Amino acid sequence: MRGRQVVIFVAIVVGLVASIVASLVTGVEGCATPTDECVRAMVARLRTQAWLGIETDGTNAFTGTITAVVPGSPADTAGLAVGDVLMTLDGLDLGQASPDELARVTARLRPGSEVALTLAHAGRRVALSARLTAPPGDEVARLVGEHVITTHARVALPGR
Ligand SMILES: [Zn+2]
Repeated sequence: MRGRQVVIFVAIVVGLVASIVASLVTGVEGCATPTDECVRAMVARLRTQAWLGIETDGTNAFTGTITAVVPGSPADTAGLAVGDVLMTLDGLDLGQASPDELARVTARLRPGSEVALTLAHAGRRVALSARLTAPPGDEVARLVGEHVITTHARVALPGR
């Protein structure tokens, strides 16, 4: 359970990544990779991942309502705001897309990619684009730290 929760959490925070730690998390009871090796692998992998900088309350990184926008992130720069709902991503209808279709679109995104978005903002449909980056150091530290604390040390974080 815990490992699966971490995978989902990472995917949501990073915003454009389906399973950064999926290959590191081998079972439901924790991560089988030695901690130092896991940290190095996660940091190396996160450096190549496209990051938008949102959290949503939906079932994947894009559906539902945006609940957080990281200050200074690509989402923030592009004008996304808490309360917005993403509707399309590079032309893909997020309300209709299957997980496979979404994975196909997000798999080609890298730091530096420009992504076209439409969203519901204050009752209006708005089109904009965001230039994705790799997650910054403090985001990487947060993601790796949460994984190590909850999955390697198996310590529950307050409020989770
Ligand atoms: Zn691990």
